[in-house]
Amino acid sequence: MSGPDIITMGCRLNIAESEAIRDMAEGQDDLIVVNSCAVTAEAVRQTRQAIRRAKRERPDARILVTGCAAQTEPQSFAAMAEVDGVIGNREKMEATSFAPAPQKVRVSDIMAVRDTAPHMASAFADHARAFLEVQNGCDHRCTFCIIPYGRGNSRSVPAGAVVDKAKQLVDAGYKEIVLTGVDVTSYGPDLPGSPSLGLLIERIMKGVPDLPRLRLSSIDSVEIDDRLFDLIAHEPRMMPHLHLSLQAGDDMILKRMKRRHARADAIRIVERLKAARPGISIGADIIAGFPTEDEAMFANSLALVEDCNIVHGHIFPYSPREGTPAARMPQLDRATVKVRAARLRAACTARRETWLRGLIGTCQSVLVERSGLTGHAENFAPVRFSSPRPPSSIVAATITGLEKGVLIAQEAGQ
Ligand code: SF4
Repeated sequence: MSGPDIITMGCRLNIAESEAIRDMAEGQDDLIVVNSCAVTAEAVRQTRQAIRRAKRERPDARILVTGCAAQTEPQSFAAMAEVDGVIGNREKMEATSFAPAPQKVRVSDIMAVRDTAPHMASAFADHARAFLEVQNGCDHRCTFCIIPYGRGNSRSVPAGAVVDKAKQLVDAGYKEIVLTGVDVTSYGPDLPGSPSLGLLIERIMKGVPDLPRLRLSSIDSVEIDDRLFDLIAHEPRMMPHLHLSLQAGDDMILKRMKRRHARADAIRIVERLKAARPGISIGADIIAGFPTEDEAMFANSLALVEDCNIVHGHIFPYSPREGTPAARMPQLDRATVKVRAARLRAACTARRETWLRGLIGTCQSVLVERSGLTGHAENFAPVRFSSPRPPSSIVAATITGLEKGVLIAQEAGQ
């Protein structure tokens, strides 16, 4: 039985939810669902472009738009001739939302949502690792961010349901699970007993002893409590790779972003992590060209790449999101924003190259992905084998070289 075409934009949470939509709308061959993103103005523009292209390619199809852009700007999508329906982020997790309906716009107040979707979303990357949604929404209000207006306030999936889903994924053959959400470290206060993310991970480790690898998606460094720190530092099944939502390296800019940490806090947590688990790798999101950022402030962000040893850098050129406080601040010119983003990317690339080169001669435990020729080490370094290995297997590999940003490996002992 076939089903809808699903066009997914944006984050891992959207990817996970698109999998759930595929199941709910099974059999609806006439349907195209565009699961949109609103994180930047560019993401919204790309959503419109995807809708127009889909209609050109399948003129008879029924097109439903959902996701954060639909949630934050429903009327502007309803006004598009190509669109048959606009569905909110809450409604997209209800099967009835995908049947034809007289009302074009079905978008409820996302801020009123208090629970996570009944069926948990989990998506699969390359058949080797699964992304598991454990939290949705966000209680913070960073001045540049539209996400809370698309996803609502923070809410957590009950720990028991997470453990059950993790068991199912391991029984289905997945060797690695990535816990994902909008603000994962906000896990728990809305649940009885207020379990923390650290406690959730302990329950997964205990409840799913056969799970070899657990990884965290992006987290807020200032919200790492002692329990979580200990797990990251000492639990071998916890992957030594953290992606931190740092956003900037200058205290004045962090204040204007309404972030909850200072530059020194970020450096300190990385130093503590590196001391406790030397092989850990650090990734980070950094915004280039935030409003009012002068050259000296930018220099502090640039220096953060070295100070936090960032080897997985995700650099975002600032773009104003209408309705956010930062959009009303004095903006930098686009050329400056672009140049700063390029300088940050160059710094991250150089740091990454040094890190990867330092791994030559080491032995890494690699999860082999679909092709059988590539995989990722525990520290999330990309690896290529000289000869195929069984997909979804975990192999001990000796790193013999580095080519175009990918480590070259042969199976240990060969
Ligand atoms: S923590 Fe800040 S940046 Fe992250 S989703 Fe919440 S408001 Fe947005």
